[in-house]
Amino acid sequence: MPSRSERGTPGFERVYVALGSNLGDRAAHLRAARQALESLPDTRVVAATAIEETSPLGGMDQPPYLNQMVLLETTLEPRALLWALQAIELQRGRQRTEHWGSRTLDLDIVRFGDRRVSEADLIIPHPELPNRDFWRRELAELSPDEG
Ligand code: ADP
Ligand code: MG
Repeated sequence: MPSRSERGTPGFERVYVALGSNLGDRAAHLRAARQALESLPDTRVVAATAIEETSPLGGMDQPPYLNQMVLLETTLEPRALLWALQAIELQRGRQRTEHWGSRTLDLDIVRFGDRRVSEADLIIPHPELPNRDFWRRELAELSPDEG
């Protein structure tokens, strides 16, 4: 019988969410995001990686990011989770300016169980996963059993 840490909780999806911040008190934004995720209905944060500093992507002149990935267990559907993540971003004062611009808080769904979603405003697994070594490292840190 597989243990809970290997297979998760029946009825709950295992979801990997990437947290990023490069404006203001970056560590405080990440902490507030973890608390807000923990407060979502039918959702718990079961693990989190270490916080890591990375250079901005996309070749723009921006301050460095603090990044972290969390593993959630949730019964929310992908789109409901996306809306919840966008509400948390707005609570932390996120302004939507240019694509890939600086932000107080960015929350991205990296993987959602084994699901595949391919819609205009929601793509799962996240399309940037192949390009972000630090995401793949964080995934491995959170789930060493999954390839
Ligand atoms: P970035 O690409 O830098 O994360 P934004 O955070 O502004 O930029 O996101 C742009 C759009 O990406 C969002 O409005 C959202 O609808 C869409 N999106 C598509 N797939 C995902 C996903 N897996 N996780 C989060 N947002 C996504
Ligand atoms: Mg985003």
